[in-house]
Amino acid sequence: MTTPQTKSETPVQMTREQIQDKIISNSFVNERGCWEWFRAKNSRGYGQICIGGTRSYLAHRISFKAFKDDPSGFLVCHKCDNPICCNPDHLFAGTDSENLQDAYNKGRKGKINKSEIAGMLKVNRPHKEIMREFGVASSAVSYWKKELGYV
Ligand SMILES: [Zn+2]
Repeated sequence: MTTPQTKSETPVQMTREQIQDKIISNSFVNERGCWEWFRAKNSRGYGQICIGGTRSYLAHRISFKAFKDDPSGFLVCHKCDNPICCNPDHLFAGTDSENLQDAYNKGRKGKINKSEIAGMLKVNRPHKEIMREFGVASSAVSYWKKELGYV
Protein backbone atom coordinates (compact mmCIF):
# COMPACT_ATOMS: atom_id res chain seq x y z
CA MET A 1 0.00 0.00 0.00
CA THR A 2 1.24 3.41 -0.90
CA THR A 3 0.08 6.35 1.11
CA PRO A 4 -1.37 8.84 -1.31
CA GLN A 5 0.64 12.03 -1.26
CA THR A 6 -1.82 14.14 -3.11
CA LYS A 7 -2.64 16.60 -0.35
CA SER A 8 -0.86 19.75 0.72
CA GLU A 9 2.35 19.19 -1.11
CA THR A 10 2.81 22.87 -1.70
CA PRO A 11 5.57 24.07 0.54
CA VAL A 12 4.61 27.68 0.97
CA GLN A 13 7.55 28.56 3.18
CA MET A 14 10.22 27.88 0.61
CA THR A 15 10.60 28.94 -2.98
CA ARG A 16 11.15 26.45 -5.73
CA GLU A 17 14.79 27.55 -5.97
CA GLN A 18 15.33 27.13 -2.23
CA ILE A 19 13.91 23.63 -2.38
CA GLN A 20 16.12 22.76 -5.33
CA ASP A 21 19.14 24.03 -3.37
CA LYS A 22 18.14 22.04 -0.33
CA ILE A 23 17.84 18.83 -2.32
CA ILE A 24 21.17 19.35 -4.05
CA SER A 25 23.00 20.26 -0.85
CA ASN A 26 21.64 17.24 1.02
CA SER A 27 22.52 14.66 -1.60
CA PHE A 28 25.67 12.97 -2.80
CA VAL A 29 25.97 12.07 -6.44
CA ASN A 30 26.97 8.45 -6.87
CA GLU A 31 28.72 6.82 -9.80
CA ARG A 32 25.41 6.13 -11.54
CA GLY A 33 24.44 9.77 -11.32
CA CYS A 34 21.92 9.22 -8.53
CA TRP A 35 21.47 12.07 -6.11
CA GLU A 36 21.51 10.06 -2.90
CA TRP A 37 19.67 11.80 -0.11
CA PHE A 38 21.77 11.52 3.05
CA ARG A 39 19.29 12.95 5.55
CA ALA A 40 16.34 11.18 7.16
CA LYS A 41 14.85 8.12 5.50
CA ASN A 42 11.53 6.46 6.11
CA SER A 43 10.99 2.77 6.84
CA ARG A 44 10.77 1.96 3.15
CA GLY A 45 14.10 3.59 2.43
CA TYR A 46 12.80 6.77 0.82
CA GLY A 47 14.41 10.08 1.66
CA GLN A 48 12.42 12.47 3.78
CA ILE A 49 12.62 16.22 3.56
CA CYS A 50 11.29 18.96 5.79
CA ILE A 51 10.36 22.13 4.03
CA GLY A 52 9.17 24.30 6.85
CA GLY A 53 6.57 23.17 9.32
CA THR A 54 6.67 19.87 11.12
CA ARG A 55 5.60 17.51 8.37
CA SER A 56 8.17 15.72 6.32
CA TYR A 57 7.70 14.81 2.70
CA LEU A 58 9.11 12.21 0.40
CA ALA A 59 12.29 13.80 -0.91
CA HIS A 60 12.02 12.34 -4.40
CA ARG A 61 8.46 13.64 -4.81
CA ILE A 62 9.49 17.09 -3.67
CA SER A 63 12.44 16.95 -6.04
CA PHE A 64 10.17 15.98 -8.91
CA LYS A 65 7.88 18.84 -8.07
CA ALA A 66 10.68 21.38 -7.65
CA PHE A 67 12.58 20.44 -10.80
CA LYS A 68 9.86 19.10 -13.06
CA ASP A 69 6.17 19.15 -12.45
CA ASP A 70 3.44 18.73 -9.89
CA PRO A 71 3.02 14.98 -9.40
CA SER A 72 -0.34 15.19 -7.63
CA GLY A 73 -2.38 12.10 -8.34
CA PHE A 74 0.63 10.23 -9.63
CA LEU A 75 3.29 8.09 -8.15
CA VAL A 76 6.80 9.36 -8.60
CA CYS A 77 8.82 6.32 -9.62
CA HIS A 78 12.53 5.70 -9.90
CA LYS A 79 13.99 4.61 -13.22
CA CYS A 80 17.13 3.73 -11.25
CA ASP A 81 15.34 1.70 -8.53
CA ASN A 82 17.23 3.63 -5.90
CA PRO A 83 14.66 4.87 -3.38
CA ILE A 84 16.89 7.56 -1.90
CA CYS A 85 17.69 9.01 -5.31
CA CYS A 86 16.37 12.56 -5.89
CA ASN A 87 17.82 13.15 -9.34
CA PRO A 88 14.87 14.51 -11.31
CA ASP A 89 16.25 12.85 -14.44
CA HIS A 90 15.92 9.47 -12.74
CA LEU A 91 12.30 10.09 -11.78
CA PHE A 92 9.07 9.76 -13.68
CA ALA A 93 5.41 10.10 -12.85
CA GLY A 94 3.67 6.78 -13.10
CA THR A 95 0.07 5.85 -12.85
CA ASP A 96 -1.32 3.83 -10.08
CA SER A 97 -4.96 2.97 -10.29
CA GLU A 98 -5.46 3.35 -6.54
CA ASN A 99 -3.78 6.69 -6.54
CA LEU A 100 -5.80 7.96 -9.47
CA GLN A 101 -8.99 6.71 -7.92
CA ASP A 102 -8.04 8.49 -4.72
CA ALA A 103 -7.48 11.75 -6.57
CA TYR A 104 -10.80 11.29 -8.29
CA ASN A 105 -12.53 10.63 -4.99
CA LYS A 106 -11.14 13.87 -3.66
CA GLY A 107 -13.16 15.67 -6.26
CA ARG A 108 -10.56 16.24 -8.90
CA LYS A 109 -11.71 15.93 -12.44
CA GLY A 110 -8.64 13.83 -12.91
CA LYS A 111 -9.92 10.37 -13.58
CA ILE A 112 -8.12 9.44 -16.73
CA ASN A 113 -10.02 7.23 -19.05
CA LYS A 114 -7.58 5.67 -21.47
CA SER A 115 -9.95 5.68 -24.43
CA GLU A 116 -10.99 9.28 -23.79
CA ILE A 117 -7.44 10.51 -23.68
CA ALA A 118 -6.60 8.42 -26.75
CA GLY A 119 -9.52 10.08 -28.55
CA MET A 120 -8.25 13.55 -27.67
CA LEU A 121 -4.75 12.72 -28.79
CA LYS A 122 -6.03 11.27 -32.03
CA VAL A 123 -7.63 14.57 -33.01
CA ASN A 124 -4.52 16.43 -31.95
CA ARG A 125 -6.00 18.39 -29.07
CA PRO A 126 -3.38 20.64 -27.44
CA HIS A 127 -1.48 19.43 -24.37
CA LYS A 128 -2.83 22.29 -22.25
CA GLU A 129 -6.39 21.53 -23.23
CA ILE A 130 -6.01 17.89 -22.22
CA MET A 131 -4.56 18.98 -18.87
CA ARG A 132 -7.59 21.17 -18.32
CA GLU A 133 -10.05 18.57 -19.51
CA PHE A 134 -8.76 15.87 -17.18
CA GLY A 135 -7.55 18.16 -14.42
CA VAL A 136 -4.10 16.62 -14.41
CA ALA A 137 -0.53 17.85 -14.42
CA SER A 138 1.48 18.22 -17.58
CA SER A 139 3.53 15.16 -16.63
CA ALA A 140 0.37 13.07 -16.67
CA VAL A 141 -0.42 14.11 -20.21
CA SER A 142 3.18 13.40 -21.23
CA TYR A 143 2.91 9.99 -19.63
CA TRP A 144 -0.21 9.11 -21.60
CA LYS A 145 1.21 10.50 -24.84
CA LYS A 146 4.15 8.18 -24.41
CA GLU A 147 2.02 5.27 -23.24
CA LEU A 148 -0.26 5.60 -26.25
CA GLY A 149 2.55 6.13 -28.72
CA TYR A 150 2.08 9.83 -29.48
CA VAL A 151 5.66 10.87 -28.73
ZN1 LIG B 1 18.95 7.58 -9.41
